[in-house]
Amino acid sequence: MSPLEAFLHEPRVAYFSMEIALESAIPTYAGGLGVLAGDTVRAAADLELPLVAVSLVSRGGHFRQTFDEAGRQIEQPAPWEPREHAVPLSAKVALTLGDRDVWVGGWLYLLRGHLGGQQPVLLLDTDLEENHPEDRRITHELYGDGAPYRLRQEAVLGIGGVRLLQALGFAIRQYHMNEGHSALLALELLHRHAHRPEELRPGESPYDVPRVRGLCCFTTHTPVEAGHDRFGYDLVQQVLDDFIPLAVLKQLGGEDALNMTRLALNLSEYVNGVAQRHAEVSRRMFPGYRVHAVTNGVHPHTWTAPSLRVLYDRYLPGWCHEPELLVRADCCIPTAALLDAHAEAKQALIDRVRQVTGVTLHPRVPILGFARRMTAYKRPDLLFADLDRLRAIAAERSFQVVIAGKAHPHDVGGKRLIELLHRHIRALTDVVPMAYLPDYDLDTALLMVSGSDLWLNTPLPPLEASGTSGMKAAFNGVPSLSVLDGWWVEGCIEGVTGWAVGTPTETGHDGHAAALYEKLEHTVLPLYYGYETAPGGWVRVMQGAIAKNASFFNSHRMMRRYATEAYIN
Ligand SMILES: *Cc1c(COP(=O)(O)O)cnc(C)c1O
Repeated sequence: MSPLEAFLHEPRVAYFSMEIALESAIPTYAGGLGVLAGDTVRAAADLELPLVAVSLVSRGGHFRQTFDEAGRQIEQPAPWEPREHAVPLSAKVALTLGDRDVWVGGWLYLLRGHLGGQQPVLLLDTDLEENHPEDRRITHELYGDGAPYRLRQEAVLGIGGVRLLQALGFAIRQYHMNEGHSALLALELLHRHAHRPEELRPGESPYDVPRVRGLCCFTTHTPVEAGHDRFGYDLVQQVLDDFIPLAVLKQLGGEDALNMTRLALNLSEYVNGVAQRHAEVSRRMFPGYRVHAVTNGVHPHTWTAPSLRVLYDRYLPGWCHEPELLVRADCCIPTAALLDAHAEAKQALIDRVRQVTGVTLHPRVPILGFARRMTAYKRPDLLFADLDRLRAIAAERSFQVVIAGKAHPHDVGGKRLIELLHRHIRALTDVVPMAYLPDYDLDTALLMVSGSDLWLNTPLPPLEASGTSGMKAAFNGVPSLSVLDGWWVEGCIEGVTGWAVGTPTETGHDGHAAALYEKLEHTVLPLYYGYETAPGGWVRVMQGAIAKNASFFNSHRMMRRYATEAYIN
């Protein structure tokens, strides 16, 4: 029996995502969007919610990161071999791009949940002998450069994906677009639900748009207009020819250019942003659309360090399936056991840091963790806005910093930030022990969110649509110190789950830096060092992060909401 057979007997939700983080060894993701996609499918496996994920094989992988002497990012290719992790699919389909037919085949990756559930993940691949050499490369590079390449990728994902699902025999009840990259799938559905020409009345749309809308839901992730994929109609016509008549396309995707977000908005019954603040911003950006808010969540088992899993298994059994149980963490887990579990996770991070960077960190000194895709709006340099001030704070009460994150190869600003961070690390070496862990991936992320004592986040509002690493930290009893943006607007209870940097309306760089120093110097560090003499202070906040935030900001709550509000309609 083919391994697919087991998934064909009941209707499934098709979850489309340009990137997906399945495991560290499979570099088909660049950041938060892919990690969320992976957590979505992992949650569906635990909840036995029938899903099939569709993504690109991205054989070229995302790069491996090292640094040169000056702290500049070096990118090494990270190709991966699908055969070692997945099985070839038995079907392939064709679509016409430009003047050639492109064949799309792919791989079945079986995502096995730790509770026994399984979900199929299809990784689309155009590297087939029958394809023109240029077309064989369409699924090589994750977020490849240049609009023509990207549009082809998105056509393979959306149109190729829908056709392949059908060719394989899947019964699809709903299509879920994770960000606008896959919105072309709705065009394929328009074709499927076209009226017969003889049924058409004059002026009537040739497509059954309401029917297609009923099949689609869309999650937007981008809080700025400029962040949305747009393709000029000249290019669209070159690549897709008259797949959908231009006049219809302009109605659905925008007059000036094909805006993938607009296309998705116009062809989805259910639309949501990834946090409440982000949904508000999206409503303002796209007036006239009903944008729901389903705040992201992270997968409990994946994002909990081994030592804390043991603790929760013992005191709150069932937490992996029902993370709501963690709401009792503040009363039902002995504080000494929690501190021990954290110390173990911290030691694992300290060991890794020493092994990889040679830097020795001290287990009794608090570690501030900061790991992000390195890009301007995440402002990784905010902590270093005033080095003298930082030195003075550290001289009073010492702390250490661990940083990680990759910059996209074309993000010049992001790469400059990496270099700058290395300079700061060197400049502060005598007062603040610091390390930059290379090659941020799922494994490094778990070590950092569990081994740090405080999770730092300093984005420029409103650009952090949600952010999820702070949620991962909460699963490990690690409180956040963060600017009020994305999920933290909902997650922050001052002094209970962590601390806010600045006020909700404060947006300036200098204001945030001053607020960050203030909070660190006068609230956070005194509380941390106080716990040795006055037990209860710091550990209460650790418990608060678990009880108030891990119990809520998890992928199971998120998926139950998608299931009852987006998928049933
Ligand atoms: C969680 C995670 C992210 C996203 O973190 P944010 O807080 O949303 O920036 C990115 N990369 C990796 C490897 C992750 O594990």
